[in-house]
Amino acid sequence: MAVKYFHHALKFRKEVCIGCSHCMNVCPTEAIRIHGGKAELTDNRCVDCGKCYMACPVGAIIVEQDDFSRIFEYEHRVALIPNVLLGQFPEKVSINQICSVLHDLGFTHIFEVEHGTRILQGAMEEYIQEYPQKKPLISTFCPAIVRLIQVQFPAMTENLMLLKAPLDIAATYFRKKLIDQGAKADEIGIFYITPCAAKIAAVKSPVGDETSDITGVINMDFIFNKVYTSVKQGHSGKNTCKVPSLSALEPQEMLWSLTEGESSLMPGRALAIDEISNVIEFLERLENEENRDIDFLELRACDQSCAGGILTSGNRFFTVERLQKHASEAGTELPGEGLNQEAASMMQYRDFLMENIAVKKVLPRSMDKLDDDTKRAMLKMQMVREIMKSLPYVDCGLCGSPTCNALAQDIAQGRAEITHCIFIQKKYEQKEWLSHHESMEIMKEIWGNEKFGEQKN
Ligand code: SF4
Ligand code: SF4
Repeated sequence: MAVKYFHHALKFRKEVCIGCSHCMNVCPTEAIRIHGGKAELTDNRCVDCGKCYMACPVGAIIVEQDDFSRIFEYEHRVALIPNVLLGQFPEKVSINQICSVLHDLGFTHIFEVEHGTRILQGAMEEYIQEYPQKKPLISTFCPAIVRLIQVQFPAMTENLMLLKAPLDIAATYFRKKLIDQGAKADEIGIFYITPCAAKIAAVKSPVGDETSDITGVINMDFIFNKVYTSVKQGHSGKNTCKVPSLSALEPQEMLWSLTEGESSLMPGRALAIDEISNVIEFLERLENEENRDIDFLELRACDQSCAGGILTSGNRFFTVERLQKHASEAGTELPGEGLNQEAASMMQYRDFLMENIAVKKVLPRSMDKLDDDTKRAMLKMQMVREIMKSLPYVDCGLCGSPTCNALAQDIAQGRAEITHCIFIQKKYEQKEWLSHHESMEIMKEIWGNEKFGEQKN
């Protein structure tokens, strides 16, 4: 059964959009069209990678987050933070200061996502041993990659490692621990501080899972600005951080969300590829290759993995450098010293977490499917091939679709006309099948009246 619903955290603000098409040109899954001078999203093609958000020159694309005031609906307010948050700040800002300001903002507990990797690493190693026939096993850490595989490489959904991400393991653990300490379930609010839009989408509509233990999601740039402003205003950080677990992670746990964070720990031949265009290029080759002698693939949509998430504020290379420094400093501790109180407590929940670590099969959602009815889909496919014979293969985008092939698909789906192609228009004008005025009207329909010097209605 096809999965129908995908939550998207990215929203397009039509009133701000100037129809420049930058977003359409960078979208790796051809999810954007221009119509009436505005960008339009094709929901089932979008994987929430955020490339369009980064490319928009006027801020017409936003990432919707939960209202911060929601945290106060709960007595126990947990900030679930990925380690890259700590890597956003200059060295002079101490972890204790960051933690202290987070408490001042209203969080009662702060817990790092990467504690979840302690349980996950062993589960992944077992999974690789158990399913050699599914090689190469693909990590499900990056939700944009999981969606990409669903829509663009549907046959590879079989290769996905069906295990929860560290984020979900950490949330499940912390919720359970608080309940065991006497908190009521409905008094616990777990808020994830996210570096990217894909993780928001994954929390709101989890793939391979029905519900999430995470209550809400707050954008990392929002939290960074709040904390950094407070620090610059002279927050002393004297309120000693009440949470002993903060950044008492093992070095490999601290680096999990960076490129090679997983692959360097997996047995056998393991590769790490970051940035979505590189991932697409790699998977296209892999699809066509006989030799798939790779045990494990770590694939991340952002350049430098989570350090390059679209909601991070710091330069991704500096973030990587800082986290590596933190990890090397942690590595200088005596063996066992890093396994702090929190880590020891988590290991007591190991059996419970392992019982809940599997996710359901991830289903394909092919974006190339032109119709739910197979016969009609085949006819439309034939139509696309025929239309392509008339198109110029220049992928100019002037038709409002990103490529000639995308236009052919849009025509087969009844969403565009062959005359949207400027080359066809010129041919038709020569043959007097189309007047110049009619061509102009078509271009206005795509690009809006304003681009042709006419006022808004
Ligand atoms: S988030 Fe990524 S996939 Fe979705 S429309 Fe933007 S660029 Fe395309
Ligand atoms: S990048 Fe896309 S959303 Fe932003 S103004 Fe240009 S067309 Fe509109």
